[in-house]
Amino acid sequence: MPELPEVETVAAQLRSRVVGRTILACRLWTPGMVRHPSPDAFVLRLAGRRIEAVTRRGKYLLHRLSGCGGELLVVHLGMTGTWTCVPAEAPEPGHLHLVLELDDGCQLRYRDTRRFGRLLLGAEADLLAAGVLPRLGPEPLDPAFTPEALHRLLRGRRAPLKALLLDQRVVAGLGNIYADEACFRAGLRPDRPGGSLSRRSAARLHDALREVLLEAIANGGSSVDDYRDARGEPGRQQERLLVYGRAGRPCLRCGRRLAVIRLAGRSTVFCRRCQR
Ligand SMILES: [Zn+2]
Repeated sequence: MPELPEVETVAAQLRSRVVGRTILACRLWTPGMVRHPSPDAFVLRLAGRRIEAVTRRGKYLLHRLSGCGGELLVVHLGMTGTWTCVPAEAPEPGHLHLVLELDDGCQLRYRDTRRFGRLLLGAEADLLAAGVLPRLGPEPLDPAFTPEALHRLLRGRRAPLKALLLDQRVVAGLGNIYADEACFRAGLRPDRPGGSLSRRSAARLHDALREVLLEAIANGGSSVDDYRDARGEPGRQQERLLVYGRAGRPCLRCGRRLAVIRLAGRSTVFCRRCQR
């Protein structure tokens, strides 16, 4: 599932490819992917708009459009979504749900085999009010997200640390991969209560989070499922993951077999010796 580093990679690539381009036409095959407004209004309102900026918030890709007071086209990749910008003549793959024809002969294509993705269009305030865009916690790479800020977010919380890291209202952008990787690097058990972290442990977790996310961004994200970047290429971080996907294999630090448990409905891999 694409997390912060994967979505950031796509946003950065699209910034240089689609900002300033005008959407000439919009083809939507799967109306159910559009959560706001109605699929008909979504298609009608996209045609003729210029893409002014591409940014990321949590796991959401935000495309600011010309006119109508800075409306956003919002793309959430769900589990298996890809959002690529390719020449119009490139062969069309299966599982395409949306194609935007741009004025430079390229197409933005939304493809999703499992269809857990979401497409939204509207002003941010309206999307928040409609409940289709959730209120997200702080960005872990924002300079304002300090070790003290993380400690305050976790203080008094009895839920397992990993469940809190996955909660987008606590911190935005983390999913199963990087929550496990950060807990391992910080030497913290993912099932201990979030509120049990000392100031020092929270600072370690803070540094581990930044480290795993920045390293993954530098490597173009992890392609463990269908993830592809905006050019359709896989990431390289999956080869460097220390615990995710390695249940039962030896810990790279101490050699003990990595344990796997279920936490917050997700399989969670950690080392019983290195993580306390
Ligand atoms: Zn270990």
